[in-house]
Amino acid sequence: MTDLFSLPPATAEPRLHIARRTLEQLRSVPELAHRYAGSGAPRTLDDLAALPALDKDGLNTALAHLAPRADRGAGATWLFQSGGSTGAPKVGYAPTGFYMAGVHARWQPLERDDVFVNAWGAGRMWGAHFLAAALADLSGCRILAVGSVATEEYADWLAFFAAAGVTAIGGTPSVLRLWFAHARAAGLELPALRKVLWLGEAWQPQLDADLAAVAPRARRWGMFGSTETWVVGTNTPDCPADTFHTLPEQLVHVGAEDLLDFTTLNPDMLNPVLRYRTGDAGTLLACPCGRPGAAMRVLGRRDSVVQVRGLGLDVDGVVARAEREPGVSRAQLVITELRGRVATVDLLLLTAPGGPPDTERLRKDLLSATFTLSTAFQHDPESFRVRRVDELISNGRTGKTAALVVREGA
Ligand SMILES: [Zn+2]
Repeated sequence: MTDLFSLPPATAEPRLHIARRTLEQLRSVPELAHRYAGSGAPRTLDDLAALPALDKDGLNTALAHLAPRADRGAGATWLFQSGGSTGAPKVGYAPTGFYMAGVHARWQPLERDDVFVNAWGAGRMWGAHFLAAALADLSGCRILAVGSVATEEYADWLAFFAAAGVTAIGGTPSVLRLWFAHARAAGLELPALRKVLWLGEAWQPQLDADLAAVAPRARRWGMFGSTETWVVGTNTPDCPADTFHTLPEQLVHVGAEDLLDFTTLNPDMLNPVLRYRTGDAGTLLACPCGRPGAAMRVLGRRDSVVQVRGLGLDVDGVVARAEREPGVSRAQLVITELRGRVATVDLLLLTAPGGPPDTERLRKDLLSATFTLSTAFQHDPESFRVRRVDELISNGRTGKTAALVVREGA
């Protein structure tokens, strides 16, 4: 089944000693030993595909036991948040440099002449800011380490960016949307901006409209990765936004139900990444940009379906439908549970200046078009609500704004 791997056997198999070493590390973890007891050391890609997949909890259990350290020559060992959307922070490890030399060898969106705003939040054990800083460092450009700013600060910073001739900006798509929405609201343009780097969430099509208004010459440059795997792949403006060229030190495999798993072939990787599943589904194909080799198309998270009164609700589908509505810049579903049962579903809409949507019409459209909603709320349709809000609910710990928030009601 080697066509389900990002690398051909002749390339990957000579480097599987890294996977064998990772397997030995995972076997040494008392809580995981039984999972790997029957597994032989992988010599071929088929052997590798037969190993158990590792999930976030398993990886965090392994890291708690292994507590890896960077080799002395690699600098310090950095600890970053690798948690899900709830609970206490879990920890991922990386050496100084964050493996970005391997990324920069194949992907150079930034050049020496660029003036780059690093708008990924810094601090709180977040990784992306430092990873992007390492990439910018390798490119030799000018770096403005801005991080996150408060609502009332955007206009001043944007005016400063325009005056400073900023040519590149990077952040999560949610954060980028805020920057561009504020620029549009203030009537500000960034005429010198040519590059928008992103990582951490899927690209949001609304950003294309933002860019057309604020920075018509700017194009997107994406990275795909996680705090467990670090950067797996990258794309260019010539690639679809959901398609990434994977790095040779990252072995990507498409498993059951199209779930992607990742195995590191990088000898310096500190996290024991062996058939690690991020929860993303995907496929391997030839990228329309024409660059040779298998590219990874990310199809979204398999966990985007939640149970609402015994029926599966496709969160991403509902959110995408709402975000196609003119005037909606972002949408979020909030499920409120009472004693374990879904009491209400609220669709929150962040609306852009000019053109607030007709929430009651959208609500009726969604109810009639979504089997789960119409069936689950057959007897209390008023429990599905659509509301405009000034802010979506973001997780203060991770800084991410998820498409779905589940909370326990009063
Ligand atoms: Zn491509």
